[in-house]
Amino acid sequence: MANLNTDAIKRRTYDAIVIGSGISGGWAAKELTGKGLKTLVLERGREVKHVVDYPTAQLHPWELPNRGQMRSGVNEANPVVSKCYAFGEATEQFFVKDAEHPYVQEKPFDWIRGYQTGGKSLLWARQTQRWSKYDFEGPARDGFAVEWPISYDDLAPWYSYVEKFAGISGNRDGVAALPDGEFLPPHPMNCVEQYFSESMAKTFGGARPIIIGRCAHITQPQPIHLEQGRSKCAHRTLCERGCPLGGYFSSNASTLPWAAKTGKMTLRPHSVVHSIIYDEKKQKAVGVRVIDSNTKETEEFYAKIIFVNAAALNSNLILLNSTSNRFPNGLGNDNGLLGKYIAFHNYRATINANYEGYLDKTTEGRRPNSAYIPRFRNLLKQETDFLRGYASGFSANRGQRDDRNGWGEDLKTGILNPKLNDFWSVGSHMMGETIPKESNYVALDKDQRDPWGIPQLRISVDYDENDVKMTKDFFEQLTEMYTKAGFTNIRTNDSNRTPGLDIHEMGGVRMGKDPKTSLLNEWNQLHHCKNVFVTDGACMTSTATQNPSLTYMAFTARAADYAVKQLKAKNL
Ligand SMILES: Cc1cc2nc3c(=O)[nH]c(=O)nc-3n(C[C@H](O)[C@H](O)[C@H](O)COP(=O)(O)OP(=O)(O)OC[C@H]3O[C@@H](n4cnc5c(N)ncnc54)[C@H](O)[C@@H]3O)c2cc1C
Ligand code: SF4
Repeated sequence: MANLNTDAIKRRTYDAIVIGSGISGGWAAKELTGKGLKTLVLERGREVKHVVDYPTAQLHPWELPNRGQMRSGVNEANPVVSKCYAFGEATEQFFVKDAEHPYVQEKPFDWIRGYQTGGKSLLWARQTQRWSKYDFEGPARDGFAVEWPISYDDLAPWYSYVEKFAGISGNRDGVAALPDGEFLPPHPMNCVEQYFSESMAKTFGGARPIIIGRCAHITQPQPIHLEQGRSKCAHRTLCERGCPLGGYFSSNASTLPWAAKTGKMTLRPHSVVHSIIYDEKKQKAVGVRVIDSNTKETEEFYAKIIFVNAAALNSNLILLNSTSNRFPNGLGNDNGLLGKYIAFHNYRATINANYEGYLDKTTEGRRPNSAYIPRFRNLLKQETDFLRGYASGFSANRGQRDDRNGWGEDLKTGILNPKLNDFWSVGSHMMGETIPKESNYVALDKDQRDPWGIPQLRISVDYDENDVKMTKDFFEQLTEMYTKAGFTNIRTNDSNRTPGLDIHEMGGVRMGKDPKTSLLNEWNQLHHCKNVFVTDGACMTSTATQNPSLTYMAFTARAADYAVKQLKAKNL
C-alpha cells in the first residue's frame, strides 16, 4: 500500500507547476520547460488548440448564422460580458458567460474573462508598450502605493527578450515616456494621422508626440517566428476569432506549442486550482489542490516551485483561499494586505471630431492597429491638481455612406455605389492611470460559493476624485489639441463606465521592498513563501498607462530565470 501511495505521489510530482495558460502562464511554461524543468500547466478551461479550435476564423459574414449579430437573448442574459466590444457571434466561445463563474459585486465591476488554454491571449487587442522609468519611479516620486523594488533598467533586457520572440511591430520614435523596443516594421499612419502628428509636433515642440501604436503582429517574420510556425499578418482584422496564420501573438500560437516541443510540459485542462498546499514543517509550498471541472473530484499535484498566473483577480482568489495554520488569512498574507490596492485603467472618456482636409484622399484595406499618444501629463514634474496622467489612442477614418432609399434597381445602385463622407472622422480614447488604494480590494465572500464549492470573489473597486479630475483634464487637453489641428464638431463623452471593462485589473499581491507593506519581493516571490512566484497582473504595484501584458511577459521570463537558478543552487 505504501508503495502504491509513493508511486501515485511520484506520478503527480513535477519540478514546477504553472497555474493558468494565458499570456503570463504561457510564458512561464515556455521558460521553465526550456530550462529543463518538468512542468505541469493547470488550466481551468477546455483545451483550445491552435488553428483546429478556431471554428469561426475563416467564416465569411454570410456564413455566420446571424451575420455577426448576437442571438436574441444572449446579451440580455449576460449583462457583464456583453459590454465587451469583442464579444460577438464569432467570438463568444472564448469568453466566460456571466453565470458560468459567479462573483459578488460589492461595487459594480465588469469582470471579463477567458477560460481556455491561451486564456485572454486569443482575445486581446495586442497593444504592447514598454513602461518607462517615469512609471517605475512614479509611486516613490509622487508618494502613493509603495516604491517599486525594481527599476526600468532591471526589466529592459527582459522586454527585449520577450519582444523578439513574440514579434512586436513599432517605430523607433525616441520618446522618453515610451522606450523603444526590438521592433518589427511599423504599420503606417494614414494621411490625417500623419498630419495630426506633424501639427502637434509644431504646436508643442515635441512634448506631445503622436506615434503609430506598437502591437504584437508579425509585420515581417523573423526566423524565430517561422520556427514557431507563425507567419506574416495578412491584415484580416479578425484576430479575436483566433488567427490561423499565427499573425498575432497568443499563447496558443506561440509559447505553449514551444513549451510542448521540449517534451517537458504536461498541460492539464479542466483543472480548477482550488488552493496552494503549504507544508508547515518544510515551511514552503509543496503543491496545489485541483478540482476536476468534469468530475468535481479533488486531486493534488506536487512541485518544487509554483508560478501563479491565473490572471490578476483569480490569482488573488487562489492565494486568499490557500489557508493553513501558518497562513490563516491566505498564503503569504502576514500583513493583511493580500487582495488590497487593486487598480485598473480609466477608459471612460472619449473625444470625437471631424476634419475637412485631405478630401482628395481616403483609406483602403485594414490595419489591426491605430495611432497612439503617449502620456504627456505630470511626466517630468507634478503640474496638475491630480496625480499621474493618461495615454490616448488616435485614429482617423474617411468613412463612407450608401444610399438605402428607394426600391429595386435604385436600392441596388445606391448600395453598390457608396459615397465618401465629405469629412474625416477622428477620435481618441483615454487610458488613464488609477491610484491603487487599500479601499479598492477583493476578498472571499463568506457565504456564496461557485459551482466548484470555492468561495466567490467579492469585488469592491471604484473610481475616485483623482479619476474625475483626470477625465476633465483629458477633455480640456484633447479639445485644445484638436482645435489647434483645425478639427471641427468636437464632441466629448464621459461614459462613466464600470471599472473592469478596461480588462487591465491589477494588484492585490503587489511587489515591494518591505514585507510589511507588500506581498512579493523584487523577483516576484512571495516574501513569506519563497517557492511561490506571482507574475501576472496581481503583482503590479502601480498601473502606469500602458497596456500591461508585455510587462507581465517580461516579469514572467525574468522570474522564471531567477527561479531556475535558485532551484539549481538548492535555495528553493
Ligand atoms: C478584448 C480584450 C482586449 C485586450 N487588449 C489588450 C491589449 O491591447 N494589450 C494588453 O496588454 N492587454 C490587453 N488585454 C488584456 C490581456 O488579455 C490580459 O492582460 C492578459 O491576457 C493577462 O494575462 P494573464 O496570463 O494574466 O491572464 P489570462 O490570459 O486571462 O490567462 C489566465 C488563465 O488562467 C486560467 N485560470 C484562472 N483561474 C484558474 C484556476 N483557479 N485554476 C486554473 N486555471 C485558472 C484561465 O482560464 C486563463 O486561461 C485585453 C483583453 C481583452 C479581453
Ligand atoms: S489581422 Fe493579422 S493577426 Fe489578425 S487575424 Fe488577420 S492575419 Fe491574423
